[in-house]
Amino acid sequence: MSHWYEIFSTGQTPGAGSYEYLRCGKVVVVTDDEQLPRCPHCKQRSFSRSTEPPPPTTSFL
Ligand SMILES: [Zn+2]
Repeated sequence: MSHWYEIFSTGQTPGAGSYEYLRCGKVVVVTDDEQLPRCPHCKQRSFSRSTEPPPPTTSFL
């Protein structure tokens, strides 16, 4: 079991789901054919798949 921690990078399209920036822990949600964006805050480009459910869009801002 060495595959418990998958890492993704900006520009990849790993599929619909929520992904968490490794450095700041911010969660981003992408759709099936959407690319992972770069973090607007810390500019980092590495993600892990988040186990958190996507935040409701109505609570954004
Ligand atoms: Zn960040």
